Amino acid sequence: MRKRKHNAIGWTHETRNPIGGCLHGCSYCYAHRMCDRFPALSMEPKFYPERLKKMQRELATTEPSRIFVGSMGDMFGDWVKPGAAVTPDHVRQVLKVCAKLEQHRFLFLTKNPVGYIQYDFPRNCWCGVSSTNGSPDPKVWRLIYGLPFDKRPMKIFLSLEPYLQRHNGAIDDCFKYFDWLIIGGQTGTEVFKPPVWWMDDVIRSAMLQDVPVFVKPNAGYQKIVQEYPEGLKVEG
Ligand code: SF4
Repeated sequence: MRKRKHNAIGWTHETRNPIGGCLHGCSYCYAHRMCDRFPALSMEPKFYPERLKKMQRELATTEPSRIFVGSMGDMFGDWVKPGAAVTPDHVRQVLKVCAKLEQHRFLFLTKNPVGYIQYDFPRNCWCGVSSTNGSPDPKVWRLIYGLPFDKRPMKIFLSLEPYLQRHNGAIDDCFKYFDWLIIGGQTGTEVFKPPVWWMDDVIRSAMLQDVPVFVKPNAGYQKIVQEYPEGLKVEG
C-alpha cells in the first residue's frame, strides 16, 4: 500500500490536476506564478486524460488521504461548457474516478460555486468556495444545501485564502451551511497579512455554529488552530 503524502498546503495530503487552468486572473495567484517559472505549465483550461488515468492507478493503492483536485486552476469556472476545451463531461469523468476511489476524500475549490450545481457528486467529495473577502453569497449556499441528498456533495466548506478583506455580516448566515472553514494568507515577504482581530472575529462566528477551523501558518495567526471535520479525519 502506498503511504499517504504530506503536502505544503497543510490541509491536504496531495494534489491532482486532471483538469487545469483558470481564467479568473487573480493578481495573487500561485498557479500563475508557477506558470511564469515553468513554461511547460499553462493557465489555459485543459483536460489531461493521462493525468486522470495516473490518478486512478496510483490512488487505488494509497492509504486513505485527503486529495485536493484542481490546485492549478478552477474546474468549475463558467468557461467549462459543451464544446469548450474543458466540458462538463470532462468534470464528470473526474468525479467518476473519485467515486471509485472510495477510501479517499476529494476536495475541490472554486470561485464560481454555481458551477457545482449541474453535477451529481459522489459521497466522498467535499466542495469548497474560495473567497478573499469573507463575503460569499449566502443564496448560493442555500441553493447547494437545498439540493436533493443524492445530488449534493458530501460537505461544503469555505476557504478564505488569502484573506484580504474583512467579512461582512453575510458570513454568519453562511456558517449555517458550511462544514469547515480554512483561513490562509499570502505567501512571500512584504505581502498583506490579515489582522489578528479579523481572524478572531471570523473564527468566533464559525465556532458559534460548531464549524471546525483550519488556519494555515502563512496567515500569521498567533495560535495553532488545525481542526478537521469528522468526515475528513483520515489518519489512523
Ligand atoms: S481562482 Fe485560483 S487558480 Fe484561478 S486565478 Fe484565482 S487564485 Fe489562480
